[in-house]
Amino acid sequence: MKIFALFGNPIRHSLSPLMHNAAYSKMGVDANYVSFCVDNIESAVRGIRDLNICGVSITIPFKSTVMKLLDAVDDSALKIGAVNTILNRKGRLTGHNTDWMGLTIALKEKMAIEGKTFLILGAGGTARSAVYAVQKEGGVPIILNRTAEKGGELAAEFGCESYQIDNIEKIKADCLINTTPVGMNPDTEKSLAGSIVLTHFGHVMDVIYTPLRTKLLRNAEKAGCTVLSGLDMFVHQGAEQIKIWTGMDPPREFMKNVVFHKLKSGDKNGD
Ligand code: NAP
Repeated sequence: MKIFALFGNPIRHSLSPLMHNAAYSKMGVDANYVSFCVDNIESAVRGIRDLNICGVSITIPFKSTVMKLLDAVDDSALKIGAVNTILNRKGRLTGHNTDWMGLTIALKEKMAIEGKTFLILGAGGTARSAVYAVQKEGGVPIILNRTAEKGGELAAEFGCESYQIDNIEKIKADCLINTTPVGMNPDTEKSLAGSIVLTHFGHVMDVIYTPLRTKLLRNAEKAGCTVLSGLDMFVHQGAEQIKIWTGMDPPREFMKNVVFHKLKSGDKNGD
């Protein structure tokens, strides 16, 4: 049996074990995906080799700090500055990032990226993946962040524009992507953009999927936008991890249904 794992802290609300184990079962792969609430990431990474864990998902707060503990990190993860996936090949640990892939695949299911403008709310880890994904596919990202300096630093690094978030009403783009936690459970009545502002965008994506329909997405629907929930990004980033670990393309629609029904039946958080 192959063992896969999730390292993070906290991890108790994560839906990754449910999604991964359902996928392996459906694919007929003899595997078990287990989660570890990690205090010391160095010891945990040593444990990957010692316990012969085939692949690991990395989540908050270790996506950046884990990088220096690996034998190699791929170019995309290096540029983004975060690893969310470790592959263990005979004791050699390589780091990858599938968040940007998940975001790209989710977007491309609904719209073309090339030549389009994307207003990205936030300048944290997920915003970095979003900026990278948009540029890689030939789109133009514009960063809007609460802390203007942090947005400016990210913009300088990727060679794009950035503004303080209060300027949201002045900017039009093909797509708005929220990469901040604003609107996530339990603060579900919060949104960084109201219905009027949202008429400036054709598409609106929220990386949050707890709740599935955030206030931002509810407002966007009212404004006539095409909306994208963070669930699709979550499913595709997990599916890309399974592809890296097994070489097989997992049943994405099935995985989405499993997570969707869990979210519908209870109040879950996490990534
Ligand atoms: P992060 O690195 O902490 O960055 C958070 C960003 O949000 C910062 O730029 C911060 O602005 C901004 N922000 C936070 N609170 C705000 C507020 N009240 N008003 C305005 N801006 C605010 O977080 P992250 O790791 O990127 O995660 C962000 C979200 O993405 C989380 O909800 C996470 O669950 C979700 N996520 C989803 C997926 C998926 O697969 N769907 C994958 C990864 C992450 P400042 O710079 O001003 O502090």
